[in-house]
Amino acid sequence: MNLFNVYPLFDIDIAKGIGCRIYDNHGIEYLDLYGGHAVISVGHSHPYYVQKLTQQLEKLVFYSNSVVNPLQKELAEKLGKISGYEDYSLFLVNSGAEANENALKLASFHTGRRKVIAFNKSFHGRTSAAVRVTDNPKIVAPINEGFDVEFPALNDMEAVRNSLRNHDVCAVIIEGIQGVGGIRVPDATFLQALSEECKATGTMLILDEVQSGYGRSGKFFAHQHADIRPDLITIAKGMGNGFPIGGVLISPAFEASFGLLGTTFGGSHLACTAAIAVLDIMKVEHLLENALKTGNYLMEELNKLPQIKEVRGLGLMIGIEFDQPVKEIRSRLLFEKKIFTGASSTNIIRLLPPLCLSKSDADAFLAGFKQVIETGE
Ligand code: PLP
Repeated sequence: MNLFNVYPLFDIDIAKGIGCRIYDNHGIEYLDLYGGHAVISVGHSHPYYVQKLTQQLEKLVFYSNSVVNPLQKELAEKLGKISGYEDYSLFLVNSGAEANENALKLASFHTGRRKVIAFNKSFHGRTSAAVRVTDNPKIVAPINEGFDVEFPALNDMEAVRNSLRNHDVCAVIIEGIQGVGGIRVPDATFLQALSEECKATGTMLILDEVQSGYGRSGKFFAHQHADIRPDLITIAKGMGNGFPIGGVLISPAFEASFGLLGTTFGGSHLACTAAIAVLDIMKVEHLLENALKTGNYLMEELNKLPQIKEVRGLGLMIGIEFDQPVKEIRSRLLFEKKIFTGASSTNIIRLLPPLCLSKSDADAFLAGFKQVIETGE
């Protein structure tokens, strides 16, 4: 059987990872500035994480949500504390798309409405609110059966007000920082006005923190830089440091009832163990502070380079925009300098490293990056 060929792949077989380094099957070392698409939060194969997962693996991987699982409670308590959302409830799932689907469902059940506002260039996974962020002409988008979705421009409050005017929208869904769309940070004043307008019109505000959350921006959630409290917050990626787990943080205004939501695998014993280990490490190693400090340093240094059109982001979620396509730069970084990066559209390099990235790792990246862009054609 062949694999269904939907991903353009580098011909590199990653066999091992330690901290911010990964190694291929020939033992060649790479610096990881991409973290498997923002998934690696506490670093590859962190010894505490490995120990906790191994111990749990020997006991129990999974039993269904028909019995009490104390690990879910421990996770919810620790997550509430570190994020500042102790009064919210947690529903556990397996991925970012699933988290967003459940948040949209909750918003729809709660309001009795089925219209959704997402934003131009947003990405919420392969969900009902999916928007076209690819140039592939075969992809017909938005893929929004089930919901009517409108896509105003980010930061366009006038357009949002217009859409919410009839009080028929169940949810506005917005990323804490747009990731796939090119690392675009919503204005704090826009988020504040959006939050107010949602309250005034009975619209649920869903903050998709799947990519921007879990400490990446230097605060636990990127929207906390704007000091707002959404109705629903979705999480995944960095939550399990590579183990699939996602969740929805749900405000106390929502009432739970048996059968309202459900999942087979969500919140398994092993997944919860991974997520608890991540939070323990983040706390002990002060990874939020590190993300802010190292991210600020990287952005400061990148801003000195005249070849770059614009540097955007917060903490360790950084977009480096060029006037020209970045394919060649990324490929030279990878094959000549052994540095993994990501991309958004054709002309933006995306950095999403593990949150334990040190200053010397950042310097190693900057040295390789400068050499590549200074010798580019
Ligand atoms: N939301 C955002 C902001 C994302 O960046 C992604 C994935 O890139 C998703 C949702 C979907 O997450 P998953 O691929 O785990 O379904």
